[in-house]
Amino acid sequence: MSDGAQTRRPPQVLRGMRDFTPRQMLLRQRVIDILRRVFERYGFDPIDTPLLEYYEVLSGKYGEEGEKLLYRFVDHGGRAVGLRYDLTVPLARYVAVHRAELTFPFKRYHIGPVFRAERPQRGRYRQFWQCDVDVVGTRSMLADAEVLSVWIDALSALRVPNAVIHVNHRQLLEALARAAGVDPALALSVYRAIDKLAKIGEDGVREELIRAGVEPKAAERVLGLIRVQGHPETVVDTVRHLLAEDAEAQRALDELAELFGYLAAYGTPEGSYILDLSLARGLDYYTGPVAEVIVREPAIGSLGGAGRYDRLIGMFLGEEIPATGASLGLERLVEVVDEFGLLPTPETVSDVLVVAVEEQQRSESLRVAQELRANGIDAEVYLGERVDLRRQLQYANRKGIPFAIIVGPDELTVGVVTLRNLVTGEQERVARHEIVATALQRLVATGRRPARERTGQE
Ligand code: AMP
Repeated sequence: MSDGAQTRRPPQVLRGMRDFTPRQMLLRQRVIDILRRVFERYGFDPIDTPLLEYYEVLSGKYGEEGEKLLYRFVDHGGRAVGLRYDLTVPLARYVAVHRAELTFPFKRYHIGPVFRAERPQRGRYRQFWQCDVDVVGTRSMLADAEVLSVWIDALSALRVPNAVIHVNHRQLLEALARAAGVDPALALSVYRAIDKLAKIGEDGVREELIRAGVEPKAAERVLGLIRVQGHPETVVDTVRHLLAEDAEAQRALDELAELFGYLAAYGTPEGSYILDLSLARGLDYYTGPVAEVIVREPAIGSLGGAGRYDRLIGMFLGEEIPATGASLGLERLVEVVDEFGLLPTPETVSDVLVVAVEEQQRSESLRVAQELRANGIDAEVYLGERVDLRRQLQYANRKGIPFAIIVGPDELTVGVVTLRNLVTGEQERVARHEIVATALQRLVATGRRPARERTGQE
């Protein structure tokens, strides 16, 4: 038997990867448009880099865990290559390649897909998009504050409620392990354990620390430190006192105090950021302040990760160039926006279907559609074989097109067309030469803005 229909199964999509419907894409594009506007408002310029990099560019940057999740293969030319795992390492490589043409501090944004061979679950995919802003070439805490301020503006523009930015410092984390008297060899397990505080609670962290071989007394000291909570500036003061002996910790606290000072000057609302000593952040390349943005609902982990990485670019150049940046995960942002209906999104781009009742009105219907388009209205005509009024209106209804302009024989002889609101069923006869202006008015009145205003880009 040949491969008849009964043996053929529908093709599968790879695990952790997804198709997107028009509605999902419209929402994603809307979120991306809003993010771009915020990024550009601060003067970040866009760049792009290839999805594929030499494996050696990516390797050794993400720690042991990350390394295992890198998609790696040998290409047709026998080169070891990898799919990009984030947008930060490609940026570091980019700076090393383009250094001579860049103006420092170099500020870029980059929105695009990255790949990680993770175990898929809610909010965790193998292909997902990151939306990054980074500042390269300055150690000033102004840059760290700016990328967090960008986050706050972006979340507010997306109307995400209850997002809190948790801030910590890599050096503070190390000082904490030192102060607790933890064997330096165990420091990594300490970071991993305390990072789970929100998930497993204090008792869970204590158990995990002891299981990793940390002395019970040292474990208590670690817990005592990460318990400190309150207004960021107060926490800085308390921890300053607790880690008074540790010069590195004092330097880290100076940086955080400066960072919080700038955030206050930016007018960042109270409570939108906290100093959270339990925040570890996985990626190996961080050297200074680190941050994560978290929402309570829905429970999908962090919406974004940020941090300073002063040594990463040096791995490509041999000379250090300091940098800091922040990355938002598009999938999780879209999930929050969708779950709470934060940005009402249409089902289709089309504002209007222009309908010809008979073959004789076809040309006129095409002219009407072109006039609408020339005036910023997204208009389509039905491309099926037969002119059939019922079928055309059904097409518009199914797609969720809100208006139809019906061009019929009677109307044309007296110079009018019919404008029908497909949601309410109301219709009106409009003079042919006024149809564009009237359609525009009705679109604005129903909250369905014409294309030009909808994206705010043109
Ligand atoms: P990271 O580069 O690991 O700091 O991640 C930055 C942000 O990317 C996270 O806060 C998430 O919003 C998002 N993200 C990370 N991993 C995934 C994933 N597997 N699927 C979807 N989003 C992710």
